[in-house]
Amino acid sequence: MDLYEYQAKDLFAAHGVPVLPGDVATNPADAKAIAAKFGQPVVVKAQVKTGGRGKAGGVKLASTAEETEEKATAILGLDIKGHIVHRVLVTPASDIAEEYYFSFLLDRANRTFLAMASVEGGMDIEEVAATKPEALAKIHIDAIKGVDAAKAEEIADAANFPAEVKDQVVDTIVKLWETFVSEDATLVEVNPLVRDPQDKIVALDGKVTLDENAGFRHPAHAELVDKAAENPLEAKAKEKGLNYVKLDGEVGIIGNGAGLVMSTLDVVAYAGEQYGVKPANFLDIGGGASAEVMANGLDVILGDEAVRSVFVNVFGGITACDAVANGIVKALEILGDSATKPLVVRLDGNNVEEGRAILAEANHPLVTVVDTMDNAAAKAAELAAAGV
Ligand code: GDP
Ligand code: MN
Repeated sequence: MDLYEYQAKDLFAAHGVPVLPGDVATNPADAKAIAAKFGQPVVVKAQVKTGGRGKAGGVKLASTAEETEEKATAILGLDIKGHIVHRVLVTPASDIAEEYYFSFLLDRANRTFLAMASVEGGMDIEEVAATKPEALAKIHIDAIKGVDAAKAEEIADAANFPAEVKDQVVDTIVKLWETFVSEDATLVEVNPLVRDPQDKIVALDGKVTLDENAGFRHPAHAELVDKAAENPLEAKAKEKGLNYVKLDGEVGIIGNGAGLVMSTLDVVAYAGEQYGVKPANFLDIGGGASAEVMANGLDVILGDEAVRSVFVNVFGGITACDAVANGIVKALEILGDSATKPLVVRLDGNNVEEGRAILAEANHPLVTVVDTMDNAAAKAAELAAAGV
């Protein structure tokens, strides 16, 4: 989960990383009031989960409270790379002597953590990385040893931070590592990390990505989720512990296990070409496809208005096909009249005959059982096309 800048800087502050105070406004009048509270000048900054806000006109200085209101009016509602600005951060403006770059990230390709640092930070860091790679120091971090003051000094030296600010930079690096580890982040980035004219170091921007797999260790992180920006069905699925992804077609897909679900997407996309339909979404019900899990899954998929048919593709393993078939029958009982769209079910694997017998016995009017994955995908596509 990516955080907004103001959330990232709140985490920084909690871990002792130097940041400037600030408040978030959703309308120009509130922005003006915040500027009046902090005194001027201030910077008005678009809060969107994408970079390059400065270049897109999403970061503006204001020297009076009235001007803050004007700048907020200009920034709120802006479209920055497809992200509409609903909030601005109003924060005291800092004078800038130098702009640096610093980040910790999970380096998946090298199976380690990585620190990146440069004294040529600011808005064009991507260009620095591309054209002057020697100006961007990259230091691997041993996950067990982590980053202590000595390691932080090694990083600061590799990037040639000036002597006057080195101690502060080292201290900030250690605190950013503490943030990275204790919040279970996969990215902590500061650009720019600023040296002001009094040689004080401050994180003027912040980008943090939290590892959602570690969410159970951080109940407080739930509050960082932007509920308004979440797809309601995705939120509902998440609440029930299901992995649901919305796409833009007509055939709903339920499967057990990520691999099977991915290949189901492929066969539905392929079969759908003939009928002019595509996958509408997909949902992985995981290993234990109990009646309740199946009902929750169907409830989410059928809640998607774009869905015209549903393909339930299950390979019975530890949870055998008869249990899954019972799950489907009970799920349809639970859903009752709210289940209205045709279901194509393909079962295979452990206890497949028993499973098919249970579905045949139930003989539910919405359910069609098809033996092979390809034929089932074609049937689901055909039914979706008929239902459009
Ligand atoms: P980004 O473009 O989305 O990365 O947004 P940043 O927060 O990094 O801001 C972009 C640029 O605006 C920075 O590199 C600074 O040059 C400038 N900027 C941001 N905050 C301040 C500030 O408080 N004072 C001054 N003078 N410039 C600022
Ligand atoms: Mn930035």
